[in-house]
Amino acid sequence: MDVRLLEATDDPERVVCIGARNDYSSGFVGEQSFAETMATVEGDTIEEKKRTLIGHLLDHGHFGPFEHPQATFAVEGVSRSCMAQLTRHRHVSFDVQSMRYVAFDEVDPAEVREGAMVVTPPSATDPDWVGRNQRGGAADEEVVEKREQVFRESVVGSVESYQELLDTGMPPEDARFVLPIGTEVNMVFSMNVRMLMHVADMRAAADSQWEIRELTEEILDLAAEWCPLTFAHYDEHMKGRKNRLAP
Ligand SMILES: Cc1cc2nc3c(=O)[nH]c(=O)nc-3n(C[C@H](O)[C@H](O)[C@H](O)COP(=O)(O)OP(=O)(O)OC[C@H]3O[C@@H](n4cnc5c(N)ncnc54)[C@H](O)[C@@H]3O)c2cc1C
Repeated sequence: MDVRLLEATDDPERVVCIGARNDYSSGFVGEQSFAETMATVEGDTIEEKKRTLIGHLLDHGHFGPFEHPQATFAVEGVSRSCMAQLTRHRHVSFDVQSMRYVAFDEVDPAEVREGAMVVTPPSATDPDWVGRNQRGGAADEEVVEKREQVFRESVVGSVESYQELLDTGMPPEDARFVLPIGTEVNMVFSMNVRMLMHVADMRAAADSQWEIRELTEEILDLAAEWCPLTFAHYDEHMKGRKNRLAP
């Protein structure tokens, strides 16, 4: 999978701070300088003041100001299973590559056998892979070889059947019914910082599935560059805790 940050609100933590300070200021934040808006916040520099305020907001569950900054990500090559999980989050906006317009009619089945077009779960090839609820691990080499063989034959068979159906003139939106749920898809999606933390609460958790967890960790790495104070605080004080952002 390849995850990129496409676009994001400029200076997002300034926006968060202005939103939050608005709630407790008698002056109009639209007319003040940022320094004036932050004047009563503890800290010697603007950066320290921002850190103080953002930490305070997150510690006290004042999450509204984190809805102002928005980021748009692009991901290439996740499974449709992963897509189904991410698209359950109702405050994220999506564009999903269409299987109606993107037909995999020229994909070489030999390449599919090597891992193209369909995501291969690590448990298909790694004898030591431990899945959710501690299932798997310490499998015999022979068992894993068999697993991989069954997996590869199944996906290659599906792709060949799909291509045969297209050759008979079946519309791609119907022929795709035979493709596996592991078929790769590209997406563009946008969300605000509050939602990003909520998705991380649910999808970076240990009981989440490996693929969406990997995607979420990549998103978190990009978010940490974009909103460093917020995600440093999230990482240190909030990630993995039981009382999540939303129930
Ligand atoms: C480990 C794991 C296993 C899962 N297994 C399954 C499964 O087997 N089957 C299945 O169907 N789903 C499953 N899910 C999906 C899960 O139930 C949620 O639907 C999904 O994670 C979306 O998150 P959310 O409910 O927080 O809603 P989001 O859409 O992310 O919304 C964020 C928050 O907004 C509030 N909210 C949004 N919409 C409403 C609403 N209509 N009413 C009230 N409050 C609302 C809630 O507080 C919610 O937490 C699983 C999720 C995880 C992490």
